[in-house]
Amino acid sequence: EILANQIAAGEVIERPGSVVKELVENALDAHATQIDVLVEEAGVKSIRVIDNGDGIPGNQVARAFLRHATSKINSRQDLFRVQSLGFRGEALPSIASVADVVLQTATADAEQGAKIHYQGGKIIEETGTNARQGTDITVSDLFFNTPARLKYLKSQATELSQIVDVINRLAMSYPNVAFHLVHNGKELLQTAGNGNLQQVIASVYGVQQARKMLSVSAHDNDFEINGFISLPELTRANRSYISILINGRFVKNYNLSKAIVKGYGSKLMVGRFPIAILQIKMDPLLVDVNVHPQKHEVRLSKETQLMSLIEEMVVQRFVNENL
Ligand code: ADP
Ligand code: MG
Repeated sequence: EILANQIAAGEVIERPGSVVKELVENALDAHATQIDVLVEEAGVKSIRVIDNGDGIPGNQVARAFLRHATSKINSRQDLFRVQSLGFRGEALPSIASVADVVLQTATADAEQGAKIHYQGGKIIEETGTNARQGTDITVSDLFFNTPARLKYLKSQATELSQIVDVINRLAMSYPNVAFHLVHNGKELLQTAGNGNLQQVIASVYGVQQARKMLSVSAHDNDFEINGFISLPELTRANRSYISILINGRFVKNYNLSKAIVKGYGSKLMVGRFPIAILQIKMDPLLVDVNVHPQKHEVRLSKETQLMSLIEEMVVQRFVNENL
């Protein structure tokens, strides 16, 4: 079982940034409105995520660390309607198999919270605790028992930048959630959680840059798009600054980001890409999220229709305005 979890960890947990992503997505799935992420030494030493979400009932805490023990899918039908970010029940057991994990949690109505300690996939301790509502999880000594994986990590600067990226993206995806990211005691991001996407963009990219982002929107019978796209002067050398969210989920879809770039046409220098954040709403039945273990890639029905809508939206906003 531990070995199976370590193998799964190879797919789901590649680096500290993936741990941060999984833990924060769990907090979001638990309806947290405040998420604090405290990282030491680019996450290799420790990653702590504190949320004020639903918490885990005491009698289900150990179960949460069992493989495929997700609380989010009850039937095969659910798999196609999935709205939550996690649904495979692989993250916690994977992380616990390659690190030291202490989780404290309490639900609103519980008399007592629960605390559980795992190390290299083995349970060390399970006790009661007087935790407040929500979940507080600390992952230390990541990959201590898988040296090959530890060796494969890049410099601290690179690993940290991946963590910052994950939090920036999630903060922009959830403007209603207050995010706080601290590295080695230094604050790297703080958002208000007041729903103002433009304010989040300003926290992420800086106030000056945020002024160079234009709001965009478009809709047809199937899709509703809202977001911000940068003026051509704010372009970047790669497309990683294009964030697309479908029904609140950060996704990777080459064709959709291509549609944004195509909308710019000749206005954009060759090999340059805008900063963009698009929130797209659609019937969940048009999205198949079950393509990749990390759940970033999606297949869409009516993709061509959506591409045209995006491209036309960009043309209207940028090209026709003669920017
Ligand atoms: P998944 O998110 O795919 O269900 P995970 O391994 O990430 O699987 O988590 C397992 C289960 O643990 C979740 O289904 C959820 O019930 C519970 N859980 C994990 N983290 C939290 C959290 N921060 N708040 C509340 N419940 C949590
Ligand atoms: Mg999860």
